Amino acid sequence: MNVLVLNAGSSSLKFQIIATDLEQIKDEKDDRICRGEIESIGGEAILRIRYRAEPVRTLTAALHDMGAALDYLIRFLASDRSGIPEIKSSADVHAVGHRVVHGGELFKESTLIDDRVLKGIEDCIDLAPLHNPNNVKGIIAARDLLGQDVPQVAVFDTSFHQSLPPEAYLYALPYHLYRRHRIRRYGFHGTSHRYVAFRYRALRGFTREQTNIISFHLGNGCSAAAIKAGKSLDTSMGMTPLEGLVMGTRSGDLDPAIVGMIARKEAMSASEVETLLNTQSGLLGISGLTNDMRELLNELNEHDDRRVKLAVEIFCYRARKYLGAYLAGMGGADAVIFTGGIGENSPDVRARICASMEWAGLRLDLDKNQAMVGREGIISSNDSTLHAYAIPTDEELLIARDTVRVIRKMSHPS
Ligand code: ADP
Repeated sequence: MNVLVLNAGSSSLKFQIIATDLEQIKDEKDDRICRGEIESIGGEAILRIRYRAEPVRTLTAALHDMGAALDYLIRFLASDRSGIPEIKSSADVHAVGHRVVHGGELFKESTLIDDRVLKGIEDCIDLAPLHNPNNVKGIIAARDLLGQDVPQVAVFDTSFHQSLPPEAYLYALPYHLYRRHRIRRYGFHGTSHRYVAFRYRALRGFTREQTNIISFHLGNGCSAAAIKAGKSLDTSMGMTPLEGLVMGTRSGDLDPAIVGMIARKEAMSASEVETLLNTQSGLLGISGLTNDMRELLNELNEHDDRRVKLAVEIFCYRARKYLGAYLAGMGGADAVIFTGGIGENSPDVRARICASMEWAGLRLDLDKNQAMVGREGIISSNDSTLHAYAIPTDEELLIARDTVRVIRKMSHPS
């Protein structure tokens, strides 16, 4: 089954086509046909696409909205000039898997999209006003272009964390705010945390019930998850992705009184402060330079800039605090997992986070840590009782696999 995986943003559309089915999933023989992204939708858009291991191709076109972008993409994929023999016409796209940011309390697992489900995703717009509308646009565009007969599945960033117990998901606010407005912790990056938990299980030959880990997804957005017996027990992002770890441009945790303080002192509205916390803070805010960790580390090596150093140190210290908190929250873990652009590629950041964690039985192996860049494997020393792994994430693969599983279950209900 050729699954078109879509991740629709405000002005971008990331995509992959992965050929997979139940047998291929079992044998881990999924076949990634192509991947790419359309950027700057709404103006002169840029399509970058890579077929298998061939060089990236770049095209430009005026694409005024998500519908136009998807139409352009599907036409291109199905045309001779794409050079993709697997897709001869739009009929060779057999299913669509959508990354959907917020599923609220409605969606506890990946779900086949029908009118009722689409309405549910729209109902969650209140909780994710910046993200869910784009996902809805992507779903409607795909349905309009491919027709009702091509099944579409929604895979939610939040659903893995629906297993959180109330003591982890409730804030200490008047309870009626939860009842009235569903203000609670939802957590995000669920697909990534779930994927690395699955890979860890495969690497160790463990069952899901034996999987006790703390995973760190460190990319532009960053989150930690405490995963006990294979289920998410706690996670650092909250009602929105703003809470928790320090991120590229997000502050993560802070004293809530600061919001009012900034609003008064800087004459800003509540929503302007929220934007500042989401887009001007984190690594960018502290360093005053960039949200890009790789650039910060290069800068630190070359110039030892004080604010750059502070940004990196605050980022790593916050992550270490969560490591300690989750060890306590889950009564100990077997392993710490690093993923996301920073987690997968930066031995330096991993070493800083794990520094002085010997008390918890965690000791990195310097050589293994240095060697594990962009690939999967153990980075802790042989005498470490709390293991550490770097595991590249693959959210698109999990979305494609979930899409197949949901569709096959629907056609053969057990
Ligand atoms: P997103 O969350 O947008 O998917 P990524 O997971 O690709 O982002 O992560 C982007 C972050 O990863 C950036 O801060 C980037 O600098 C960082 N990164 C990528 N490679 C390295 C590296 N070799 N060393 C340190 N940081 C890196």
